[in-house]
Amino acid sequence: MAYLNDNYLKLKSGYLFPEIARRVSAFCQANPEAAKRLIRCGIGDVTEPLPPAAIRAMHAAVDEMGKRETFRGYGPEQGYEFLRHVIAQNDFRDRGLDIADDEIFVSDGSKCDCGNILDIFGHQNGIGVMDPVYPVYVDTNVMAGHTGPADDGGYSGLLYLPCTAENGFVPELPSEKVDLIYLCYPNNPTGATAAREQLASWVNYALNNRSIILYDAAYEAYISDSAIPHSIYEIPGARDCAIEFRSFSKNGGFTGTRCAFTVVPKSLNAATSDGKWTSLHPLWQRRMTTKFNGVSYPVQRAAEALYTVEGKEQVRALVQHYMGNAQVLRKGAKTAGLNVYGGVNAPYIWVQTPPGITSWQAFDRILNEANVVITPGSGFGSKGEGYFRISAFNSRANADEVARRLQALKW
Ligand SMILES: *Cc1c(COP(=O)(O)O)cnc(C)c1O
Repeated sequence: MAYLNDNYLKLKSGYLFPEIARRVSAFCQANPEAAKRLIRCGIGDVTEPLPPAAIRAMHAAVDEMGKRETFRGYGPEQGYEFLRHVIAQNDFRDRGLDIADDEIFVSDGSKCDCGNILDIFGHQNGIGVMDPVYPVYVDTNVMAGHTGPADDGGYSGLLYLPCTAENGFVPELPSEKVDLIYLCYPNNPTGATAAREQLASWVNYALNNRSIILYDAAYEAYISDSAIPHSIYEIPGARDCAIEFRSFSKNGGFTGTRCAFTVVPKSLNAATSDGKWTSLHPLWQRRMTTKFNGVSYPVQRAAEALYTVEGKEQVRALVQHYMGNAQVLRKGAKTAGLNVYGGVNAPYIWVQTPPGITSWQAFDRILNEANVVITPGSGFGSKGEGYFRISAFNSRANADEVARRLQALKW
């Protein structure tokens, strides 16, 4: 008899986005006229086409693949040297951060890496996640058997770190010990950023407890405030206690093209089950070479092109476009009399629902009366109740229209 992984049966059945889809489709069926003016500000996916520099590089790479002399088969599993080098140079060394080319591991996505990273950790770790949270961190720990069953508050066995308006959506240090801590800044879904001192207190916590921070910086390109760190490695000591996830999805618009990278410093250690302090870098190297066969050559060339002078300019323009939307949406929600967070250094606006209105009630109101799809905050965790997320990934015309409609809503 074959046995399945029972942990999968603990998963709350992909509740959030299927439920949104169900309500939107029911609404559209019942209201075919209103359906025509529906605007989606729900799922966090980019809308604008790829930067021309990436397109050109990809075309050229495809042509290389079409000629015997320049054809390439399997590449290095960890990524081509040309890409690892420009990443380490531009994103880290040019900013004064000590990261070597071979500490960069290129992959097909940060979502995948956030999940796969658990391969190199033991099962005895205490896990801390933010609440509200990007569901991937939670669900991959459930799949790995690191939790008990779920109840309304979340999964037993995980330590949920409350992120509230009072703490600026940056969790306080826990009183109990956690070994792996997931932090994501700028944050999805709250749009919050963490100040240098706040990150420093987490790095000190990790160093003191021999814990590891899993730092998701997928939105670092959206930081406009020069005081806010783009990388956890801007904090002294982080090389010894943090792994950083980066992605080309939200800066270069690569959500459908697929390329990201993970930084695993060679000075990062964790304990063997008999207590020997041991480097993790060779384990991740081994994991990638065994279970991954590299990102396609044309895609790695496209990612490389984002670091050229014109590529950087085009990425900046993309980010500016979305952040212009964020400004419009923030203003719209504020003018509507709502309490608004985020949307300044991140492409998400986190809006407090009016008193007495739950996240899902706000969702239904906004869908029915404004014909706009947002994401109910409660879908990201119990501390997301009382909020909803508006995504700034859209055309400017749609952002303008959503702002107008939000202002016209009477709560
Ligand atoms: C979009 C996003 C990513 C990027 O995921 P990819 O798999 O690289 O597309 C990572 N983390 C968070 C929190 C995100 O919202």
